[in-house]
Amino acid sequence: MRIYLDHNATTPVREEVADAMAAALRECFGNPSSVHAEGAAARAEVERARERVAGLLACEPREVLFTAGATEANNTALGPLLRAWAGDKRHVVSSNAEHPSVEEPLAALEREGWRVTRLPVSQDGLLDPERLAASLAPDTALVTLLWANNETGVVQPMARLAGLARERGVRIHADATQCLGKLPVDLKAVALDALSLSAHKLGGPKGVGALVARGDPGFEALLRGGPQERRRRGGTENVPGIIGLGAAAALAARELSERSREYARLRDYLWDGIAAKIPRVRRNGAETALLCNTLSVEFDGVAGDLLMQALDLEGIAVSTGAACASGRVEPSHVLLSMGRSARQARASLRFSVGHGVDDAQIERVLALLPDLVARVRDSGDA
Ligand code: PMP
Repeated sequence: MRIYLDHNATTPVREEVADAMAAALRECFGNPSSVHAEGAAARAEVERARERVAGLLACEPREVLFTAGATEANNTALGPLLRAWAGDKRHVVSSNAEHPSVEEPLAALEREGWRVTRLPVSQDGLLDPERLAASLAPDTALVTLLWANNETGVVQPMARLAGLARERGVRIHADATQCLGKLPVDLKAVALDALSLSAHKLGGPKGVGALVARGDPGFEALLRGGPQERRRRGGTENVPGIIGLGAAAALAARELSERSREYARLRDYLWDGIAAKIPRVRRNGAETALLCNTLSVEFDGVAGDLLMQALDLEGIAVSTGAACASGRVEPSHVLLSMGRSARQARASLRFSVGHGVDDAQIERVLALLPDLVARVRDSGDA
């Protein structure tokens, strides 16, 4: 039996979600735009899923736009939504520890002549609210920030940051992809204007997500070609995927407090064991502001990719950082942004727990890891 500790890369699809999707594939084949009964049945399921996502976030269903995942949601936020909100403003504020699906659209805006301010994070991975406040200018159209970092699990003080932007009349978008199902995301309490999410990080399927835009603003579709999603996204809806996202959102809402307690317990059990058994280790990220399920550890003198492969051969899946960056030799830009050297960044591994992980699995990892770390250290290939 393999031990999967890479839930920040993607999560296994929950049984309840797979059942709902299988039923949809078999029985709910109508096109939601068709006016006959088959179409109406599919439309009703899409709208029920929208209500479930809105329920998880405490927003209005009409504010939820289904996309093909968080990458599309972020590209929409930093493309047509930004343009609809910006008027003649041409400045965006972000950070230097963003996901590539935000960083690359920001770089594209710069090439078009926009000004982008990338706020630095501290050694703990946290943003300084004072610095955010100081960066806002009369021509700032948007602040966009990663709420919880996929690589380190560092959670930004989003209520505070969003409050500051709101006070100054500047709109703010957050990539909340890693937050859902792990911490409360309550749009009544946090003054965000837009938020991105993805189903496959919370027990749902890949290739579906949502952009939430408060106040239901009009904007040009990124994908033109039809009246779907009230002209904000052309193309026949991914009905089974959307149903899967709705089912995953409903589960997350129901299980949130239990999940966050259990994931934190497993994560702490793992860290306590690592710290007790393995010399020269340190945790990345502010310990008081971490996602309940994420543990990023620097194993001094270790080549992280070799340790990851050694664990994989033993049946244990972990990550050297973002899945999107694994396989490349470059060190994580997130750890570099926290002041780590390239060597330190390469010595880090990310363990992320989730549904299906239990104490016995953590114990097996703790039984194997000290020897594997010693072996990789001895190989001197760091
Ligand atoms: N943002 C964050 C923080 C992520 O972790 C990911 C997934 N790696 C994405 C965006 C992109 O999500 P998707 O794969 O659904 O496009």
